[in-house]
Amino acid sequence: MDMATAPTPARRSAADPVHVDVLIVGAGISGIDAAYHLQQQCTGKSFTLLETQETFGGTWSTHKYPGIRSDSDLNTFGYKWKPWKGVPIATAPEILKYLDECLDEQDIRRHIRFSHEVKSASFSREDALWTLEVHDRAANEIVTFACNFLWMCQGYYRHSEGYTPDFPGMEDFEGELIHPQNWPEDLDYTDKEVVVIGSGATAATIIPAMAKTCGHITMLQRSPTYFAARPNRDELAETLRTLEVPEEWIHEISRRRVLHEQKIITHRSFNDAEALRNELIEGAKAYLGQDFPVDPHFSPSYRPWRQRLALLPDGDMFRAIRKGNASVVTDQIDRFTKDGILLKSGKELKADIIITATGFNMSVMGDVAFSVDGEPVDFAKSWAHRGILFSGVPNLAWVFGYLRTSWTMRADMIAAFVCRLLNHMEEKGAKIVTPELRESDRDMPELPLVDPENFNAGYLTRSMHLMPKQGDRQPWIFSQDYYRERDEIPAADLEDGTLIYR
Ligand SMILES: Cc1cc2nc3c(=O)[nH]c(=O)nc-3n(C[C@H](O)[C@H](O)[C@H](O)COP(=O)(O)OP(=O)(O)OC[C@H]3O[C@@H](n4cnc5c(N)ncnc54)[C@H](O)[C@@H]3O)c2cc1C
Repeated sequence: MDMATAPTPARRSAADPVHVDVLIVGAGISGIDAAYHLQQQCTGKSFTLLETQETFGGTWSTHKYPGIRSDSDLNTFGYKWKPWKGVPIATAPEILKYLDECLDEQDIRRHIRFSHEVKSASFSREDALWTLEVHDRAANEIVTFACNFLWMCQGYYRHSEGYTPDFPGMEDFEGELIHPQNWPEDLDYTDKEVVVIGSGATAATIIPAMAKTCGHITMLQRSPTYFAARPNRDELAETLRTLEVPEEWIHEISRRRVLHEQKIITHRSFNDAEALRNELIEGAKAYLGQDFPVDPHFSPSYRPWRQRLALLPDGDMFRAIRKGNASVVTDQIDRFTKDGILLKSGKELKADIIITATGFNMSVMGDVAFSVDGEPVDFAKSWAHRGILFSGVPNLAWVFGYLRTSWTMRADMIAAFVCRLLNHMEEKGAKIVTPELRESDRDMPELPLVDPENFNAGYLTRSMHLMPKQGDRQPWIFSQDYYRERDEIPAADLEDGTLIYR
């Protein structure tokens, strides 16, 4: 640590930490969900949320690029316990308003310590206690918190900085180079030539939003992505609303409809991939025009759904392309130049602004240094227990949501599981729970946490070696399959011999 910026010594000493039953790290969608479930299902347990940023919402307050919005529907991306009443795809301000209401309605805000970044967490088996060193950024000092159970809701990527590959000649470019995660809010792009590198959900959001005012915007992709253009409305919900059906029912019905449709799409992506692929490509042509060269621009070689299927509300990006305000180039970068990007094909793309929509830096457990009885924890050596707990690491849960289905569907499920586990410990009088392999688990093959055949997003592939492993039998499987886990997790046996209580 640079001594000039080093925080001053502790205000609260390690001997006198703020002590609660449960510490939740992160006040994004998952952290707020954890707090809600603790209040509802573990009445009487004290808890605090520690959040690096000055505000709540995580992803939805970090990202400020033009058009920022969800790419999955808010009936399933929102909570089971609070109806979503807006259009399916929502903007970041709409999501933040929803979360703000949750904090007020559930009286959760007073439990959050903002500007508190967790740096380290050490567990003592003797005291059955986690002790956390936390940087209070407002006061610029290290403070200490302690808890019996630690619930990591820190998301999956580093919020401070996005991932930009090291392209040759980047330093030669004389225009503005921007990663969407660090968006300069005063950026004026009126009439500017813009190139966006990447073709994921972020690029697909930025392009139609900027196309309205910039000179021209080009999506530069190495390889194409599947996009599903859909009207941004829920006709069934609208009908039910005119019939004065209660909002709670409408929310639940919409969730079930979305999950049912996604189940069919997921099934088809494995069993009927060619037909599904053709439908998606035909869907693109319907917006872009029959003569548009969908091959190579919107005709990926991978199976649909092997990466998250990016939704285009009302076909917004396709419309911008058809209008001529935006275009797509499928090529490879040779190098950056003073004026833009030279492509491997020899063509040069001129740009005033280059946006690198090239993804995230994965952060394993919020970049917190963990130790147990003084021994550093290497999560890559542990086995994920239902993708929630870790072998050998006591009293620690982690939220990693779904990658295809909305993230929150799993956050809700994990929250209910953790509360059940905490109540079970209480009933048994146990202070510590540690997942351990049974004798019969010792011959398990070591499999990556997310099977690249199943889902192969770049940010995961780059960091899989840092993640815990999964096995080939329960409870060591992390299937990323909502339809399987919705039955398995609520019914999980807490006395199956893999959870050791003390
Ligand atoms: C632009 C974008 C759009 C997305 N759209 C969707 C979508 O439509 N549907 C979907 O299912 N998923 C989407 N995702 C994935 C998305 O990140 C999650 O679905 C969801 O928002 C994650 O919520 P979270 O609370 O788990 O994590 P985050 O939103 O990442 O929040 C984690 C919080 O933890 C805090 N934190 C991290 N480390 C520490 C620490 N050491 N100490 C204290 N605090 C810490 C962070 O500051 C942050 O506030 C999107 C992701 C991005 C980047």
